[in-house]
Amino acid sequence: MHRFFLPQDSFSGSTVIIPPKLVHQLRNVLRLSPGDCIVALDNGGWEYEVELRRAARGGLEGAVLSRAPATGEPGTRITLYQALLKGTKFELVLQKCTEIGVAAFAPIVCERCVAGEPTASRAGRWQKIIAEAAEQSGRGRLPALRNVESFREACEGATGTSLLPWEGERSAAIRSRLKKTGRTDDGAQVNIFIGPEGGFTVEEVKFAEGCGIVPVSLGRRILRAETAGLVAASVVLYEFGDMDCAGRGPGSHKRPKPATEK
Ligand code: SAH
Repeated sequence: MHRFFLPQDSFSGSTVIIPPKLVHQLRNVLRLSPGDCIVALDNGGWEYEVELRRAARGGLEGAVLSRAPATGEPGTRITLYQALLKGTKFELVLQKCTEIGVAAFAPIVCERCVAGEPTASRAGRWQKIIAEAAEQSGRGRLPALRNVESFREACEGATGTSLLPWEGERSAAIRSRLKKTGRTDDGAQVNIFIGPEGGFTVEEVKFAEGCGIVPVSLGRRILRAETAGLVAASVVLYEFGDMDCAGRGPGSHKRPKPATEK
């Protein structure tokens, strides 16, 4: 069944009003008609099976057939601090890391960044890429996209466990670091810092260490900037049991609670 995030105000009791933009897609692109069902997501942790009914003021009315906590969220909350990248590589990171289960993206400007800051329209496109990837992959919440900030500001603001994959790291492997960190029953919060195409400067790595951020190695091969975040996020989710199949592992039985009881 097709899944869509809807604005919070679309939900009211057993009725859902589907906004006009989505109605166009449902009717003209997906060729759905009254009687067909979709899954609507409220971005608060709930998913609703909705049967399409009739045209209504401000969109299309749907009837809620059932409601359940969304099942696609990992228990581990990863924030990916990703340096801006050239061309469409940043978009690739947003799409793939949303599929994997990253909770938030924080674009950062590093010394060796070649890519400029995104325009408003590009940032809008980034939001759209995240939403589509989240719907397609079965996420229950839209990953947040933070405003662009400098590497140093980001380091100073990061709280909790923060790892900085660095190809110059010779002693700390990501696996041994994560074993030390462990995972609580309520899940874990992990920040991952990935550099630009040219990597972090040694001064940046030193600065991050001063903020309590731990440099780690992702192995003996050098990964491209657009690969490293995906690999690091996957390793963290694997290590904390968030890649176990449905109904198993800490990521499923300790899933974050939906935000609101409706
Ligand atoms: N230009 C650099 C590589 C940069 S790779 C060089 O040639 O030496 C881009 C980013 O990916 C790095 O800043 C780092 O965050 C991450 N990365 C790539 N390979 C890595 C590895 N083996 N271990 C840890 N981090 C790595």
